[in-house]
Amino acid sequence: MLPGRAKGKAVMAKERKPVIQVRDLYKVYRVGDTKVRALNGVDFNIYKGEFCSIVGTSGSGKSTLLNMLAGLEKPTRGEIIIAGEHMENKTENQLVRFRREHIGFIFQSFNLMATMNAVENVALPLTFQGMSKEARLKKAGALLDLVGLKKYKKHRPTQMSGGQQQRVGVARALVVDPEIIFADEPTGNLDSNTSEEVMRLMQKVVQEKNQTLVMVTHDNHLASFADRIFHIIDGKIVQIEDNRGHRSGVDQDRAGAEKKEPEGMKSPEETDGTEE
Ligand code: ADP
Ligand code: MG
Repeated sequence: MLPGRAKGKAVMAKERKPVIQVRDLYKVYRVGDTKVRALNGVDFNIYKGEFCSIVGTSGSGKSTLLNMLAGLEKPTRGEIIIAGEHMENKTENQLVRFRREHIGFIFQSFNLMATMNAVENVALPLTFQGMSKEARLKKAGALLDLVGLKKYKKHRPTQMSGGQQQRVGVARALVVDPEIIFADEPTGNLDSNTSEEVMRLMQKVVQEKNQTLVMVTHDNHLASFADRIFHIIDGKIVQIEDNRGHRSGVDQDRAGAEKKEPEGMKSPEETDGTEE
């Protein structure tokens, strides 16, 4: 076993600190006379360094949940605590600032600027951080190296494949070193092989940087790349599956090592709700 990893695990277990806490969350949309319960009482914790997927069919409430976590929409009822701060009490300006400082987004449609090349696109979120242009481009370049696009730094979106564009999207989400990354159907526009590549890339970066990734998908196979899988049906989390040791995409040695945890080390589910 790698000593570095074992130490990382021990620290994680000791801290046991949820980065995301969701309590009794409801979102009701009113359309004319009818009410749609998009989220119908959701509770969970997500811990630092976890890759969690939220999987469910179309209309089950995945995007609503992710938008709520990111503070893009207000809940009808309930609490969302991210990095110790209540999202539901923040003003719009506070939310904008909070997102800028703590959160990275990966979108289905990549959302790259067509007139900018790869390195300029990745550097864009750094504009708000008071860095010199030279430092911004240097950092963006390093991120493109990380996602395997060393040779594509000067390419514009139209000069890259879908998979390469999404790698740029991943690099852009990571460039500000966010604590948390949210991804809504990040491979929705990619073929299955390319989707798996992007999943492995996301696994790798989250692991290397000990970041927290929450990904929404309708695809069970893609969901299986995560450490934990949250199943959502009709606005309710019906099952939280611990997937460590079974994850797709990780090499088997490491998956085996992860299973051999010391006795008494509880999985997040076992401690959920009991430590408050
Ligand atoms: P998913 O992302 O899992 O496909 P959504 O979170 O987008 O599902 O939607 C969940 C439910 O809430 C659906 O029934 C959808 O029609 C409804 N819904 C989502 N957004 C709105 C909205 N802005 N106004 C009214 N109904 C909405
Ligand atoms: Mg959706």
